[in-house]
Amino acid sequence: MGSRKKVAVVTGGAGFLGSHLCDRLLKEGCRVFCVDNFITGSEQNIQHLYDNKYFRLIRHDISKEIRMPGPVDYILHFASPASPIDYLLFPIPTLKVGSLGTYNTLGLAKLKKSRYLLASTSEVYGDPQEHPQKETYWGHVNPIGPRGVYDEAKRFAEAMTLAYHRYHRLDTRIVRIFNTYGPRMRIKDGRVVPNFIFQALHHKPLTVYGTGQQTRSFCFYTDLLEGIVRLLGSGYTGPVNIGNPEEFTILQSAKLVLKLSGSKSKIVKKPLPKDDPQQRRPDISLAKRLLKWSPRVSLEKGLAETIEWFKLQKI
Ligand code: NAD
Ligand code: UDP
Repeated sequence: MGSRKKVAVVTGGAGFLGSHLCDRLLKEGCRVFCVDNFITGSEQNIQHLYDNKYFRLIRHDISKEIRMPGPVDYILHFASPASPIDYLLFPIPTLKVGSLGTYNTLGLAKLKKSRYLLASTSEVYGDPQEHPQKETYWGHVNPIGPRGVYDEAKRFAEAMTLAYHRYHRLDTRIVRIFNTYGPRMRIKDGRVVPNFIFQALHHKPLTVYGTGQQTRSFCFYTDLLEGIVRLLGSGYTGPVNIGNPEEFTILQSAKLVLKLSGSKSKIVKKPLPKDDPQQRRPDISLAKRLLKWSPRVSLEKGLAETIEWFKLQKI
């Protein structure tokens, strides 16, 4: 028993973040079960793991009940469409995976006495009126707008996770992830970083929505993973922001992509999607204090690496 490998279940393990998480947990010495229904994920993200005897793919919609044999030490619930384009295309699956998927994975964690980590999001703050956003901020969300399917599903997921903690004494963690980017994002997933890179590399105009003065704070995936692994190892139950507090306007980020890719593409303005948050920046004092964590990779460096990766893809 003493030398048994820890067993981790990663839902959404074939997605952008989930697949990097599978890699990282395998490196940490875990046996990894990746649960995915491929609604937005891709085999390409995980096929390098198919020969690894400690990795197993389970094709399953986690909005339906799951049973697993043997012990499970960690459950990391990452399954959910995450790009606004995706969750507008799949509003009901998004609501289901955030609610039923969270309920099913919490049920499994209760049965197996696993430590549970929920991938939540800065979207729980909606279009925030407090800036930067601290974990104590309750948010400003339109529950019936088009983004509500994602925001409210994640808010429900947080409430459900804490209810399992309080009522069933489940060992839980919640990470509120702020815009994270890097290799393995789908080039057409609609989020701003892959959109701008695709457009720049294909000499198409970069589509800036609205005035481009809205802000985001972009985190490179390696920094996020480090924060998640530290949070998993910590004893802290409440939500923790993980993100890079360097804030950019969308127009600034478009110009940076043009500079780093050497593209001569123009910038064009397109309508701003409904309820698009005007500003977003994490207050990461809690993560700094609790996890001794802060991001290391600048947007310039992370974008350069992401651009190089996209150049190697057949797109
Ligand atoms: P992604 O779309 O690349 O990955 C999501 C994965 O979940 C995909 O592989 C998809 O097939 C899978 N999935 C969705 N519904 C499922 C279901 N019902 N059953 C099984 N698998 C299902 O997105 P991502 O950027 O990797 O995001 C991963 C998680 O992190 C999501 O929960 C998302 O809300 C959260 N998050 C991401 C960011 C970010 O900036 N990338 C920010 C905040 C939160
Ligand atoms: N955006 C943009 N052009 C695009 C895609 C997105 O200007 O081609 C903007 C979008 O309106 C938002 C920001 O970039 O203000 C980040 O969008 P994304 O979809 O990446 O994530 P969000 O933070 O909105 O969930």
